[in-house]
Amino acid sequence: MQHLTYKVTILIILVLTSNAALGASEITLNDIEMPESAILLIVDGLGSSYYYPELTPFALDGSELSRAGTQNMAFGTRIINISTPYPDTGIAHSVIVTGFSEANEEIVGYPDATIYDITRQHGFFNIAVMEKGDFMSMRDEQDIILYAENNSIDDPKISIQSKNPPPGVTELMDDWKEKLPEYMDGKSGVGKYSAYNKWALDAANAVAIYMVEEHPKSKFFLTVNVGAIDSGGHNMGDDDYIRLIEDLDRDIYPLYETAKENDMAFFFTADHGMAFAKKDARRGGHVSEKYVSMKESLRIPFIMISPNAVPGLIGGGYGEEDIAPTILSVLDLPNNLQYADGTSIHVKNYASIFVKADSEYKVSLWDGGKKLSEQSASELIFAGLPLNTIYTVKASGPAGTFEEKISLDSDRQFRLDNNKEGLSQKQMAAGILIIIVNIAGLAVIRRIK
Ligand SMILES: [Zn+2]
Repeated sequence: MQHLTYKVTILIILVLTSNAALGASEITLNDIEMPESAILLIVDGLGSSYYYPELTPFALDGSELSRAGTQNMAFGTRIINISTPYPDTGIAHSVIVTGFSEANEEIVGYPDATIYDITRQHGFFNIAVMEKGDFMSMRDEQDIILYAENNSIDDPKISIQSKNPPPGVTELMDDWKEKLPEYMDGKSGVGKYSAYNKWALDAANAVAIYMVEEHPKSKFFLTVNVGAIDSGGHNMGDDDYIRLIEDLDRDIYPLYETAKENDMAFFFTADHGMAFAKKDARRGGHVSEKYVSMKESLRIPFIMISPNAVPGLIGGGYGEEDIAPTILSVLDLPNNLQYADGTSIHVKNYASIFVKADSEYKVSLWDGGKKLSEQSASELIFAGLPLNTIYTVKASGPAGTFEEKISLDSDRQFRLDNNKEGLSQKQMAAGILIIIVNIAGLAVIRRIK
């Protein structure tokens, strides 16, 4: 493991915020590259069985199906084995954004339930371009969203909903709303379905570029859903479904390039997959009784490209509920998701410590006898700690004084609460003991070329 060998002199180079309004102080230790903004691309109905070269798709009757021939996303950090708990569009989108395996559309609307609540609390704009998965509580999480009111590719109805749009984005989205007919006119079949996807990808790319150029100091979290691979799986055969995936693999390139060139995090996933009864079936499905438990319906891709993520394949079994905690970890945001039962997948090349309390604590971080940092806050983030190095965290506040030695293999979260709801002093000590035990539990990241 490469990161075991790198040594850094820790200097505190930056105190990004000590912002009373946000309630969070972030201390960034040097030698790390953090993404400032992020793009989450959800490809509706894209089963990883048809997309990952390691997997082979089968039909319900046991016959082997084809896999897409292209692999633009074979780079980055790729999770091989990850599945949705339930392959329904609304439920699966709810799981993705809450980190809760039993989430539904209603829970998305609850306070502090989603990644969008956390990003908003940390100064991000939440922006979306969605063809599917754009149910009411999902739209309400966004500062602005360009979305398809219906699921019709023949007669699409596009709308914009906003409450706190970054200046200029409403006008930009209005322009893109008008551009859809140019993409679709004169096309039919697979070409028309792919054009519908390409329109959303290009619109999202235009929004991302606009934010970078016109609002360079604003962080944003851009959610994109493309709907036509799911529609194609339902309305056309397995052969056309594969062609749609190959078209998408080509058409995501500009959006991916924008993310990469601007040091954003790029997350690529799907809500659920797709299954077919037999080879050359004329329609597929995923949530009806005969398809609902098939691997082809359940397996989804999850691929990340971020300056702070170690590229390579990650084995082991994961669930769709692990996506939200992983996104927050990559963005160095605390996992304060209220309902999450997923856990973050270890993909970063450093670790961060998150401290949260009901009231202000004086918290310091020590390397042996050397104090690296001290801050007083109710929410603190120490980002950029080299993995597998030993630190001591000291905290003093209303509930007493804490001092613990820790070694990090991934992000850690501490609650220093006074009340019965939070962790008591004893529980915190127990939590730290668990962390030390967990050092053995390193994620195995196998490097690929
Ligand atoms: Zn779906």
